[in-house]
Amino acid sequence: MPMVSKEKVIAVLANVTAQDGKTPMSESGALQGVSVREGKVFVAIQADQGNPGAMEGVRKAVDEAVRGIEGVTDVFVTLTAELQPGSTPQRGDGHGQPRQKAPPKRPDGDPIPGVKHIVAVASGKGGVGKSTTSANIAVALAALGLKVGILDADIYGPSMPRLLGIKTKPDVTADGQLMPISNHGVKVISIGMLVDEDTPMVWRGPMVMSALTQLLREVAWAPLDVLVVDMPPGTGDTQLTMSQNVPLSGAVIVSTPQDLALLDARRGIAMFERVHVPILGVVENMSYFICPKCGERSEIFAHGGARQEAEKMKVPFLGEVPLDMAIRELSDSGNPVVAADPQSPHAQAYMAIARRVLEALEPGGISSSRKAPMFVVES
Ligand code: ADP
Repeated sequence: MPMVSKEKVIAVLANVTAQDGKTPMSESGALQGVSVREGKVFVAIQADQGNPGAMEGVRKAVDEAVRGIEGVTDVFVTLTAELQPGSTPQRGDGHGQPRQKAPPKRPDGDPIPGVKHIVAVASGKGGVGKSTTSANIAVALAALGLKVGILDADIYGPSMPRLLGIKTKPDVTADGQLMPISNHGVKVISIGMLVDEDTPMVWRGPMVMSALTQLLREVAWAPLDVLVVDMPPGTGDTQLTMSQNVPLSGAVIVSTPQDLALLDARRGIAMFERVHVPILGVVENMSYFICPKCGERSEIFAHGGARQEAEKMKVPFLGEVPLDMAIRELSDSGNPVVAADPQSPHAQAYMAIARRVLEALEPGGISSSRKAPMFVVES
């Protein structure tokens, strides 16, 4: 089968007209990104929300044109429409039928069918270990017997494929849904899987929301007990809109013990409280350091700050994770420590955090979608 190249896709899109009906897509500026991997093509287009008919027409035309290229096996077109805050992009049924108008939205977003809980993992600033914590909590929840997914929504640095050792792009089902890729018992979709790694997109807030809505609603997530959303770091408008529009059960805030990070973490807590999303708790990451040579414990960043801060703010403290080489090395090799070394103290720390998250979500534990253990009594 012939190799599909990005250049070929762009060349074909020169024959598709943009919303104005005359400018070639490839020159219209609406073509936000093209990403190709082994016959799977992902196209991000920006469309004018003021003209939904044209938007649907363009989407369909792009879909059909790319599908017609020899060697193309899957096509997924992300609409990065400039939405009015609070509105939902229109969605299709995947059969090329006219897209249905989305039902009126509840202020907290409609639930995702078959997904019990959506949990945001957030941080006030970047580099505190939010993604590492998300990955390990997700694997730990799966180890506790839950059906778990991760939606990597960190537009500034989508790292979940790397952290969870995923190298392929997702398939698209016959009815137009993306199939998450599973590893370490967790279903994963990353916003990074849809765009070209070499030419990062410049995301504006409303574009993020429309792509995110697609990744929530046009992905075969169900059945899931918990969908972990790895949020972009920070507390700006993008993060606020996301926390407002995604039907979240709660949020986990990751912080290092440093004062500055704590100040940022406080902003994170305040942001979720503003949009009435319950804070499930705070995780103190890089809490302390144990010297690999002498075993001595050093409190590099004034350990314990997050616990005190959580108490002061009357939000639960979920636990602390040390600064440890193994955590970083395993993450970088696509093996979260919970999966790679489940008996280690670090994995146990994440397991304890995951149990507390679960307890905060549903005191007594989530049981509905789990099969009861079978006991065979021999007589
Ligand atoms: P964020 O998502 O907040 O930007 P990451 O999870 O990407 O942060 O972590 C930033 C870096 O710190 C990564 O290289 C990661 O491997 C490392 N890291 C995160 N948590 C720990 C930890 N507890 N011990 C050692 N390294 C860590």
